[in-house]
Amino acid sequence: MNVLAVGCHPDDLEIGCGGTLALYAKQGHNVFMCHVANGDKGHAVIMPEELGKMRTFEAEASGAILGAKNVFNINVPDLYVNSHDEKQVNDVVEIIREVRPDIIITHSPDDYMRDHVETSLLVFNASFSSSIPHYDTKSKPFSLIAPLYYMDTLAGVGFLPEEYTDITDTIETKLEALDKHESQIKWMKVHDGIDFLDFVRTVSKFRGLQSNVKYAEGFRLCKGWPRLVTKRLLP
Ligand SMILES: [Zn+2]
Repeated sequence: MNVLAVGCHPDDLEIGCGGTLALYAKQGHNVFMCHVANGDKGHAVIMPEELGKMRTFEAEASGAILGAKNVFNINVPDLYVNSHDEKQVNDVVEIIREVRPDIIITHSPDDYMRDHVETSLLVFNASFSSSIPHYDTKSKPFSLIAPLYYMDTLAGVGFLPEEYTDITDTIETKLEALDKHESQIKWMKVHDGIDFLDFVRTVSKFRGLQSNVKYAEGFRLCKGWPRLVTKRLLP
C-alpha cells in the first residue's frame, strides 16, 4: 500500500502516528510524510527563517528513522494554514496525485489549535479534489477518494479512538524519530518545563492500556461517503 500521512507542523506525525508509520514501513508499505506548516514560529529565540530551515532538516532526519520514502514540506508559515487557500489546496492535491495513497492519515478536525484544524480540513478538501478530472494541477487526477484516518489529538484530549495499532515494537523508533526534532524538544523543556519524549510515551502507554498492549496509537475513520471501508487498513 501507499500510505500518506499529512501533519501540520514538522513533528506532529511523529507524535500522533509515528509508531504506526514505522510499523507500515517495517511491513514493506510505502510511507510518505508531509507537513503543511514549516514550523518557523516554534521558538522564542531562534528567528523564523533560520528555524524553518532547521526544522526541515529535523523532519527529514526523523522521516529517515521511521522509514519514510519522502518527507514533503508545503512550507506554509506557522499560523497561516488555511483550508480555503487555493494554493495550499493545490499543493496537497499535487502530493496526493503523486503518491496515489491507499490510506491518508491526518489531524482530527477538533484538535487543539487552528493550524491543526485547518490541516485536517485542507486534507479532507484536497483528497476529494484530487479525484476530480477537471480540477487542474500538473499531475493527472487520482480516482480514489482515499479512506481518511484521524490520528490522536495532542495529549489525547477529547479523542476516543475507534481503532488502535499496537506500537509496542516501534515505540522506541517513534521516540528516536521525535528526538530528531531537537529544536522543539529543547525549547519545550526550557520554555514550558515539558519533557516531550515522556509526554508522548505516556499517551502511547495510555492508549496501550485501553487496548491491552504495552504501547498503542489511536485513530478514528472519517465518516463520509465514499471513504468507508470493509477491511482494516491500519497495521
Ligand atoms: Zn503541531
